[in-house]
Amino acid sequence: MSKGLVFLLVLLVALVALLIVRITSQEGPTIQLQGQVKGLGQSTPIEFEVRDARHSIKMAELEVRQGERVFAVPVTLAAQQKASSSWWRFWAKRPEGKAKYQARAGRKEIPGLQEGRATLHIVTTNDSWGRFFRGGRSELFLDLPVRFTPPQVQVLSFPHYVNQGGAELVVFKVSPGTTQSGVRVGDTFFPSWPVKDSMPETRLCLFAYSYNVDPATPARIVARDDAGNETVSNFVYRVFPKKFHTDTIDLKDDFMGRVVPAIMSQTPELQDEGSLLKNFLLINGQLRATDARELVAFGQKTADHFLWTVPFIRLPAKTEASFADYRTYTYNGTVVDHQTHLGFDLAGVEQMPVGAANDGVVAFAGFFGIFGNAVVIDHGCGLQSLYGHMSSIAVKEGDQVKRGQVIGRSGATGLAGGDHIHFTILLDGIPINPVEWWDPHWIHDRIEAKLAPYR
Ligand SMILES: [Zn+2]
Repeated sequence: MSKGLVFLLVLLVALVALLIVRITSQEGPTIQLQGQVKGLGQSTPIEFEVRDARHSIKMAELEVRQGERVFAVPVTLAAQQKASSSWWRFWAKRPEGKAKYQARAGRKEIPGLQEGRATLHIVTTNDSWGRFFRGGRSELFLDLPVRFTPPQVQVLSFPHYVNQGGAELVVFKVSPGTTQSGVRVGDTFFPSWPVKDSMPETRLCLFAYSYNVDPATPARIVARDDAGNETVSNFVYRVFPKKFHTDTIDLKDDFMGRVVPAIMSQTPELQDEGSLLKNFLLINGQLRATDARELVAFGQKTADHFLWTVPFIRLPAKTEASFADYRTYTYNGTVVDHQTHLGFDLAGVEQMPVGAANDGVVAFAGFFGIFGNAVVIDHGCGLQSLYGHMSSIAVKEGDQVKRGQVIGRSGATGLAGGDHIHFTILLDGIPINPVEWWDPHWIHDRIEAKLAPYR
């Protein structure tokens, strides 16, 4: 045999060996469920992603098994990324194969499904030569509870009177297996909290009708279980519409010249619009809206129980502006802006000491947009208080504070015409009227009396 023939033979054997390795490969893609699938209900959404480092995803199938019965569930391909087909370029980093699938599985899709337990079974293959050209295969099994009865809700408190711009408390009981419950007012969901650790199914829920929510908007108790079943329950309440003050602010160059550059210098994300008035309007509109979204984020950092026991303290100072004043801004006689003032402006002596309105934990302390140097204190169950325009801050995030404890001094930082404190109460980050929380009668009737049976 010539050397050339030997070489060809060796090459042929190597290629055959490589082919055998490839077509007998079992290696399949990896399957990952997205989100939390904790059970099957009326129509539970199921989403999963399939990935393969070297091959594209060929297909995915979903079935639900219950005892001897197997139910096929249709899946939809939601997104796909093919792996690079240039397999011979083994030295280069190639994009992996990826596919996202969506399905719904529950009584609606599977009429034969029964309450109890079931197994979710997902099978996928890639487009490799593995398993004699059928593609590498992988599967996933998940044992799940099946529940069709939605959570039950019983309302335990009464009456429920809400002032527009204000809040109210409802106590209700949910059935075991409920994973999320609260009150939905329009598009806003206010989560509930256990009345105490030993009674996880008896829930207290503060909810609000924001100053700008139509009093005719329905409020409903919503409860969901781990299988995705949802109950929407009515309860009896009355909303009292409220008229808020209007106010006109005449913008002066010296005021804008003092506040605008100071805020711009601390807020690098704001683009200089080239004029004092334009920059003021940017701060008054865009930055105000950004700050409002940030307050909603602070609202998530809340304790799962009330950290306070007695009514909130009002600073002993003069009211210069009140909650939900509708402000018209003029400049040289022309209307240039409208905004709503969502708090109380309280002015006393210059750099007056500012006490915490109630017991709590500092959720934020620092420079905060239009509020200048500000402190947010968490009082639990989504309830927080905000102090703005401070000259100095005496606490830091995470500090526990006592009712009346000095947390800093008043000032004129941020959008402030003079030395004062901008104070408001927040529920899940939404400003609500502080007047209610300062009022011992309101606290007694609306909050204490309803929670007394569980204390
Ligand atoms: Zn203010």
